[in-house]
Amino acid sequence: MPQQPLGIFGGTFDPIHLGHLRTAHELLTSLRLAEVRFVPSRLPPHRPPTVAPEALRLRMLEAALEGLPGLRVDGRELRRPGPSFMVDTLLSFRAEVGVRPLCLLLGLDAFLELPTWERWRELPELAHIVVARRPGFLEPVAGQLPGEAGEFASSRLTTDPGDLAKSPAGRVLVQDVTQLEISASAIRELLAAGGDPRFLVPESVRDLMVKTHIYAHPKEV
Ligand code: ATP
Repeated sequence: MPQQPLGIFGGTFDPIHLGHLRTAHELLTSLRLAEVRFVPSRLPPHRPPTVAPEALRLRMLEAALEGLPGLRVDGRELRRPGPSFMVDTLLSFRAEVGVRPLCLLLGLDAFLELPTWERWRELPELAHIVVARRPGFLEPVAGQLPGEAGEFASSRLTTDPGDLAKSPAGRVLVQDVTQLEISASAIRELLAAGGDPRFLVPESVRDLMVKTHIYAHPKEV
């Protein structure tokens, strides 16, 4: 009996926004995932340190996901010392779920960056990879994904979401999602310039950002 896959959505979530939420919701339903776990990273290895501290990024995630069936925060990277490598995260999920299919959910921008990730070629041994299109990033041409990661993925591609339930790991699927041109960096810049992020983030997240004044002023250099 095939098991419904578990979706794993990693990121800095500095802050979580509606682009993340809509993408996760659409992947949850269109791929018939059992659940999507939002996994905030502790020390992002490939990018500058986050602006909001861990505890606040976690609070914003919890506020955003409260009462949403199928979407859950998973704090395992925050509890693990050292840099947050996705390969370690997938190993820890794999140890928990046995042969249940796992799907690593990535925006196209994150997929293109894969070759900079630690032991990235091992990722498909641990999970399927689902790539959500994202505005402003190279489009797949005739179903082929671009770059070194695209070449690596080419023999694993499928267009059938049903394949994700048939094996624990190993396939790559490109999925269309509603294109929302929202990014955490643009939200931080907006707040730093005195703007209002209403309708880019859930109201509960906006409330937390306003209350804590996080992102309100550019970081001192
Ligand atoms: P920043 O602007 O700081 O780079 P971000 O908005 O890209 O942040 P992250 O936390 O880095 O947010 O992203 C986590 C994951 O969510 C990545 O896989 C990324 O591709 C995806 N993602 C972020 N924004 C969107 C969006 N608007 N639509 C689809 N996927 C998104």
